Amino acid sequence: MSSLPNCPQCQSPYTYEDGLMLVCPECAHEWNENAQDGANEEEKVVKDSNGNVLSDGDSVTVIKDLKVKGSSLVVKIGTKVKNIRLVDGDHDIDCKIDGFGAMKLKSEFVKKI
Ligand SMILES: [Zn+2]
Repeated sequence: MSSLPNCPQCQSPYTYEDGLMLVCPECAHEWNENAQDGANEEEKVVKDSNGNVLSDGDSVTVIKDLKVKGSSLVVKIGTKVKNIRLVDGDHDIDCKIDGFGAMKLKSEFVKKI
């Protein structure tokens, strides 16, 4: 006897496996059993402009000139930023840049070194 779960939609016991998916022949519902676990906590992943995953303590370079809000300063393309810290929000990188002090950057404008 198979140990497949009943259809979560119509409770039909006649579910079958189709690759990674489970399929219900009665209501045509398809679902991924593993996705229903709820065990996988969603972890925020911050990626740089190349799609590399960034983590706390990484060093990056800035890939375009970035104006510093509220000043006439510009963080030049190619500026190295050491020891970044990932934070929540629109600007998801917290860091210190020599000559600028504490800054927040967007991960889409940096490249992991
Ligand atoms: Zn069903």
